[in-house]
Amino acid sequence: MTQILDGNRTRDQIKEECIPRAQAVYKHARRPPGLAVILVGTNPASQVYVRNKTKTAGEIGIYNETLSPDPSITTEDLLRLIRILNIRNEIDGILVQLPLPDHIDAQKILLAVAPEKDVDGFHPYNMGLLATGRPGLRPCTPAGVIEILKRNHIPIAGRNAVVIGRSTIVGKPMALLLLEENATVTVCHSKTADLPGVCRTADILVAAIGRPAMVTADFIRPGAVVVDVGINAITERARAEQIFGPGNMAAFEKRGSQLVGDVHPGDMARLASAYTPVPGGVGPLTIAMLMRNTIEAAERRTGLC
Ligand code: NDP
Repeated sequence: MTQILDGNRTRDQIKEECIPRAQAVYKHARRPPGLAVILVGTNPASQVYVRNKTKTAGEIGIYNETLSPDPSITTEDLLRLIRILNIRNEIDGILVQLPLPDHIDAQKILLAVAPEKDVDGFHPYNMGLLATGRPGLRPCTPAGVIEILKRNHIPIAGRNAVVIGRSTIVGKPMALLLLEENATVTVCHSKTADLPGVCRTADILVAAIGRPAMVTADFIRPGAVVVDVGINAITERARAEQIFGPGNMAAFEKRGSQLVGDVHPGDMARLASAYTPVPGGVGPLTIAMLMRNTIEAAERRTGLC
């Protein structure tokens, strides 16, 4: 029987586990773990993400504040803001919501976050810890993928894992985390020759591409575990009908758009032995892992671990 890997359930488990750890930080340090989120500009998706992050932090007992400087803020002024957060003792985690406006040097900003407060795990220092197999703050989305696999008893060690995508946020750290779990890992990208053929060697196939339903039946070995990281909104009716089928348009009709991953949902459900649906698979895990990273940062900074 096909196993649907339920991201909402895994998210709830991780959140539950975070609550006593946040309380332990409070007991030990006389303050809760603290998270600062910087949101520049009015990107509607970013605003929704930040609202969800602050809501979840509140539910767990993490002190949180959102800083929304004027969208015209310069790189220099934003750097000053980060330097202040770096030295504020009650702030354990700093998250800069991406994308930043074009006039801001995003690389400079991300580099300025103190590595011990880099709860996104994107700083080269934390990437270096990951690459060299040392403990540290791991990027949230790929770390969430490992959690959902492990909690659903999907074996990783010794299996062939293929990751499509090599971004710093998902693909590269995903490959390193799978390697850390002793998978044999292949990383694919836009220049990979015979992409479907390489993907068919996968026992575990992870798609992090940003192209709606690109991974179709010819990429999936029957019985493989498929993890779909992609989140894409389909707004064209004809495209939605092509992906979901004319008989499955109710969700699209209701909202005028529908989310789809990087894997064709019907092909994935038909061929995979286990898979993460979109929505409700990898998506909910990212915020949960951000909360766990914030607590881990607080535990380290307060000397609890
Ligand atoms: P990027 O655009 O940064 O990276 C995409 C990667 O896919 C690149 O490495 C690119 O290759 C590769 N790629 C693009 N087109 C092809 C192709 N035709 N064949 C093979 N490889 C290709 O995206 P992200 O990694 O940031 O995000 C990937 C997806 O994951 C997106 O849908 C995003 O929305 C989603 N996402 C979901 C999150 C969640 O919480 N669930 C969090 C973060 C992202 P190359 O390097 O050669 O250009």
